[in-house]
Amino acid sequence: MAEPPRGDLSDMVDSAQPRTDVLVVGGGISGIACARALTAAGVPVRVLERSGRVGGRLASPPLPRGSADGDARPVDLGAAYFTVSDDEFAAQVADWERRGLARPWTDTLRAYGPDGSAESKSGPQRWAAPGGLRTLVADLAEGLTVETHREVAAVTPGPTVDGEPACAVVLAMPDPQAARLVGAPLRAAAAVAGQEWEPVIAVALGYAARTWPDLPAAFVNDHPVLSLVADDGSRRGDDAPVLVAHTTGDLARRHLDDPDGVIDEVVGAVGDLLGLTEAPRWTHAHRWTFASPAEPHDTAEDAPFHLDDDLVAVVGDGWGSPKVETAWRSGTLLGRALAARVTC
Ligand SMILES: Cc1cc2nc3c(=O)[nH]c(=O)nc-3n(C[C@H](O)[C@H](O)[C@H](O)COP(=O)(O)OP(=O)(O)OC[C@H]3O[C@@H](n4cnc5c(N)ncnc54)[C@H](O)[C@@H]3O)c2cc1C
Repeated sequence: MAEPPRGDLSDMVDSAQPRTDVLVVGGGISGIACARALTAAGVPVRVLERSGRVGGRLASPPLPRGSADGDARPVDLGAAYFTVSDDEFAAQVADWERRGLARPWTDTLRAYGPDGSAESKSGPQRWAAPGGLRTLVADLAEGLTVETHREVAAVTPGPTVDGEPACAVVLAMPDPQAARLVGAPLRAAAAVAGQEWEPVIAVALGYAARTWPDLPAAFVNDHPVLSLVADDGSRRGDDAPVLVAHTTGDLARRHLDDPDGVIDEVVGAVGDLLGLTEAPRWTHAHRWTFASPAEPHDTAEDAPFHLDDDLVAVVGDGWGSPKVETAWRSGTLLGRALAARVTC
């Protein structure tokens, strides 16, 4: 039997294909920024997020949990702040500032040495959010289709997500989490394989009153317990008597199965560092198994992501200097690159 002309056959195949969405796995700032860029380009997209809300490592849960007297307020347990250097990100931040969602916090932080000495260090402007950094991701997610409580188990050639055909797939999460979802022959599997990420346990400490020196945040160098202490009331602008301490990676690694096990050590270390005489009224520990990459990917400035012909892409803060701005740029630029490539 004669084959139909090639053009006719491909026309038949194309029209028989159901329309599919780009599926973005991960509702942190990189995944949401990516979905926004795709939506802006007219590409149908859905975000699948395993937890109950968007934000990822921009996490601001209300604490103390179960507060009976209603004094719970959002506390930033992930990123301590963000910085801005890219012009487009600056425009986004200016819009957040204009609408009261973001605020310039400080350009001067303390640095504590191993002997307890402290000095103030000026650097780039640090930004914070009055409602907690998560509100910025929630703002970007306005109008997008986000399916929460959707934990993806496998991305396979096609590409498909847990068996569902997709126009393209974006993995927007730390490499070790992405590595659980993809295997050979997908090229994305090789891109994310073997990448080490550092853990942190963040401990929020709520006090009766503010009795510490003006920080507003402090790097703690060569300390066995602490890497950073931030004044959450200062950055949020409400002067609440709440500190957030980040542990060292080594301490976090020893307590990944038992994050609450670091609380006593952290309370003691923060008290010693800042000369506090009162114990906190409440504490809360949060484990970040993959807080930041030990070694970011070596990547082009104008293409901070992985994209190949399998149409399984990877974005996030591992694709450049590991910070909020990098995650936003990675997702945004990949979204545009993908939109130029797919017909969904
Ligand atoms: C303790 C700490 C301190 C930090 N400090 C700073 C700082 O001061 N300044 C700064 O700029 N940056 C800081 N960062 C880094 C910043 O938080 C990140 O760069 C940024 O939030 C990364 O966003 P992302 O979207 O790439 O990843 P994430 O925010 O990690 O988002 C990944 C999302 O994917 C979801 N997910 C994972 N697996 C699945 C699955 N199988 N199915 C569905 N969903 C899944 C997760 O639930 C998560 O919501 C800090 C991070 C931490 C943890």
